[in-house]
Amino acid sequence: ASYSIAGQVALITGASAGIGEACAWRLAEAGCKLVLIARREARLAALQHAIQHHYPGVAVHTVAMDVQDLEAIAALPQQLPDEFKAVDILLPNAGLALGVAPVHELDMGDAATMVNTNVLSVMALVRAFTPGMVARNRGHLIFMSSIAAHEAYSGGSAYTATKHAVDAFANSARHDLVGTDIRVTSISPGAIKTEFSVVRFKGDEGKADAVYEGIRPLLASDIADNVLYAATRPPHVQVAEILVFATYQC
Ligand code: NDP
Repeated sequence: ASYSIAGQVALITGASAGIGEACAWRLAEAGCKLVLIARREARLAALQHAIQHHYPGVAVHTVAMDVQDLEAIAALPQQLPDEFKAVDILLPNAGLALGVAPVHELDMGDAATMVNTNVLSVMALVRAFTPGMVARNRGHLIFMSSIAAHEAYSGGSAYTATKHAVDAFANSARHDLVGTDIRVTSISPGAIKTEFSVVRFKGDEGKADAVYEGIRPLLASDIADNVLYAATRPPHVQVAEILVFATYQC
């Protein structure tokens, strides 16, 4: 049995591309109202237009912002139009790996960008939106972790540290919210072919493509399927963690 999330408000960061964009489509199909956040305003507007064309009647609100701006995140709950204020599903998905370097050559600017985007923004989003969830005794936090939260690899020290932090934060949130009807899920994908690798290799598409050679990577929509699965379990079921790999990856 699954549970209807039609009419629920879902807030997705990193909605202009990749996993976030795929989640926007899946949750629109499920009848959610959407708040879509990323920096690239034109892409958000195009996505809003496409979703509303495909699913007439689905309410979509876009916010162009940099999630590293923690004050803007804190102000967000008050600034959303009334129809979108009561966020039920929070998907703080925006994140990146930036650069590949051993610790003795780590670029501290890149490391700070990863910590701010992947960790602090996630904490700020949870801090901003959980008071409303607690007051309504209803909500679902769905974190976008990574295989990088389960293992470490050479050249990815800062990124793996941020994803370990996301999982630790998610686990603590689950402890803090136990006894309420708010659920906490952490999804850890393996390799997915999105813009992620192009960002990681700072625009070098050859290196980005090489990551996926021979492994037939996951698609962003595969992760959106898992998000939808977790969100549509009956209220007494909390899918705490999902680890999903490409079949040819381990
Ligand atoms: P993409 O690069 O395709 O998308 C990243 C999204 O995040 C974009 O919408 C981007 O939008 C947004 N974003 C990045 N920085 C910021 C910022 N400072 N402020 C606002 N939005 C921002 O990556 P994926 O979809 O693949 O990644 C999504 C999540 O999944 C990340 O947390 C990533 O760590 C995780 N993940 C990805 C894996 C993969 O192999 N692809 C594997 C495991 C986890 P814009 O540029 O418009 O701001």
